[in-house]
Amino acid sequence: MISHAPPNYQCPFCFLIDGIENEIVYTTQKEIVYKTERVTAFVASHQWRGNEPNVLIVPNDHFENVYSLPADYGTDIQNGINKVALALKAVYNCDGVSTRQHNEPAGSQDVWHYHTHVTPRFTKDRFYLRASLFKRLMPLEQRLIHAARLKQVLDPDRPAS
Ligand SMILES: [Zn+2]
Repeated sequence: MISHAPPNYQCPFCFLIDGIENEIVYTTQKEIVYKTERVTAFVASHQWRGNEPNVLIVPNDHFENVYSLPADYGTDIQNGINKVALALKAVYNCDGVSTRQHNEPAGSQDVWHYHTHVTPRFTKDRFYLRASLFKRLMPLEQRLIHAARLKQVLDPDRPAS
């Protein structure tokens, strides 16, 4: 098994999925925009200015990376990506959407629970040239605004919170 998580890793995404709010998890339950039995999508705590809101999709069970993710999660994760991408188009009128998934430190992974980024893109946004300069922790109140907007078009059966 290829793993970089420290011993006794306290996984922030597992806390989030389990409904626990503590000092380890930046994200609150109100930032979850889509949740099924197997996957959860939420507005990421860290954002790239000019390409907000970056949304993360994770399996509800803990797998560190693409090497250990069971292949049968693929459809659930891709369905979530599809719904979030269309929601980003609907809400933010973005010109495009990028998905990114990182593994191991050399692959820019920094949370040890598999996640795929879904990022709105805009014509000539130069995202890949600017990305390292414009990543920042987005204040909670701003993340909640993005989450509320996305939830309006994602999973309309989900009760408002
Ligand atoms: Zn986890």
